[in-house]
This record gives sequence, C-alpha cells and structure tokens, in this order.
Amino acid sequence: MRESGALANGGTPQTAIDTSRPHPARRYDHWLGGKDNFAADRESADRIAKAFPQIRTAAQENHRFLRRAVAFLSAEAGVKQFLDIGTGLPTSPNVHEVTQKIIPASRVVYVDNDPMVVSHARGLMTSSPQGTTTCIQADLRTPDTILADPAVRATIDLTEPVGLLLIAILHFLDDNENPYDLVARLVAALPSGSYIALSHATLDPLPEDVIEQLTALTGTGGDQGTFRPRTRADVARFVDGLDLIDPGVVPIVRWRPDRSPQAAASVADTAMYGAIARII
Ligand code: SAH
Repeated sequence: MRESGALANGGTPQTAIDTSRPHPARRYDHWLGGKDNFAADRESADRIAKAFPQIRTAAQENHRFLRRAVAFLSAEAGVKQFLDIGTGLPTSPNVHEVTQKIIPASRVVYVDNDPMVVSHARGLMTSSPQGTTTCIQADLRTPDTILADPAVRATIDLTEPVGLLLIAILHFLDDNENPYDLVARLVAALPSGSYIALSHATLDPLPEDVIEQLTALTGTGGDQGTFRPRTRADVARFVDGLDLIDPGVVPIVRWRPDRSPQAAASVADTAMYGAIARII
C-alpha cells in the first residue's frame, strides 16, 4: 500500500460526514481562519471564542509548536518517520512539509477519526517524490487497530525510531477512556530512540470567570463533544518514565520559543502545555 509522492488509501472505509454537529477538526479550522467548516462548527467555535477570545491565538500557537516539534525531531533527533494521530484539516505547512523540507525521504502516516479530515488529507497532502504520505481513518481509542493497519505497516518501519505526534488531541479523551493506557500502548509499540510530542489544553493560567464559562460550555458529553483540559501534573503523566527533552512539560509558547516559527503569544493567551520525550 506504499505510494511515493501521493497518499495511499489505507484505513477503514469512510463514514458520512455529519455537518449537523460540531467537530473538533472543523472548529479548529475555523479558529485558524480556514474554510473547511460548517454552520454547527462555526457556532460552537464562536461560543467558545466568546468565553475565551484568545482561542484563535491559541490555535495558531499550537500549530507553531507542532512545526517546531517536527523540525526539532527531524533536524536534531534524526526522526525520519512520523505517526500523527489527530491530524486535523490540512493547514500548510503540514507535518510532511515540515519534515520533508529537512529530510526529503521522510514518511508520514496521518490518522484521524473524522472522515472529512481523511478525505481532505488524501486530496491535498501530497508527499515529496522521495517520501511517503498516507492517511487513514482510525481512532486513538483503538491503538491496536492503528498499529495493525496495513497502510501504517507499509509506511512505518517499527524497528526504526518513530515520531509519535499527539498534538491537541488528548484533551478530547475523558479520564474514563483510559487516555494514559492508550498512550502507553502506543509508546510500548515503538522502538527505543522513538519520540512522543504532545500538546494539551489546560485551564491552569486562566482566570476563574473564564474557567467557569469554559467548563459550562464544554462539559463531558455535551453537544460540543468531550473537552477535558488537564493540569500540568496530569499532562506530565502522559510522558512519565520517558526521557523528557529540554525544557520539559511547559506552556507551548515556552517550548524552545526562539526556534522557527517563533512563539509570539503569552502563556495565558494559549493555555496549552507541550512536551517532547524520548522513548528509552
Ligand atoms: N494535530 C493538529 C489538529 C488538532 S485538532 C494540530 O495540532 O494542528 C484535533 C484533531 O484530532 C481533529 O482533527 C479531530 O478530528 C481529531 N480527533 C479527536 N479525537 C480523536 C480520536 N479519538 N481519534 C482520532 N482523531 C481524533
């Protein structure tokens, strides 16, 4: 199923795109100024933006953190293959563009549970001729399915270091979905010398009134979908026992902020933690 210079069509068959309910990828696309979203997504996104107007800045800074993380892993850690779970709608530069600029033969598997993300990714995210870019529809809550997927196996060599990207996705998992176990299962499948990069929403730096409004809007199981921001200690648990790369679990705007693209916002305006750790 390996295709060079194009997207392979691995993964489970697509299900219909439900435009009546807000979806995280389309909401995030709206905050980033994209056009791949529907009325329900925009209404939900705007309601959250009313409580926390900095959300647009936070989304942009998260994407900058993603780019710094992938550039670091490609240029300094020598990672040549990436498993990006929770890809989001295409927002250039995407992961493969960042890594293939540094290592043209880099291989990227994009994984998302939103069929619209998968169809757009397949249409728009074209690999360099030397590299490979594949997109599958799958869910972080079933990591074994992701790891066993034929397109994943054809693209990622599990005997070589892998960069596992979990950027702005873990806060969509509630505690009763065992997020720590899910991450541990993925980490256990990757060889020593692999890395995990994550970013995660938090309420830590926010004032009480904003916390109250956001909590009211985004309670578990509401029609905005699950949103489970976590404290720094709870985010750090995801990389417990791994070799944390400097500067550790920090607000995304403090993660090597002078690398390109430079961080350009405050901690309170982004309210997200980021971390990269090496799998020992
Ligand atoms: N990682 C990208 C996009 C973040 S938006 C970035 O940081 O720029 C979060 C993405 O995670 C959305 O595309 C959403 O569809 C996806 N997602 C949410 N829960 C998921 C799950 N359980 N399994 C797979 N994808 C999920």
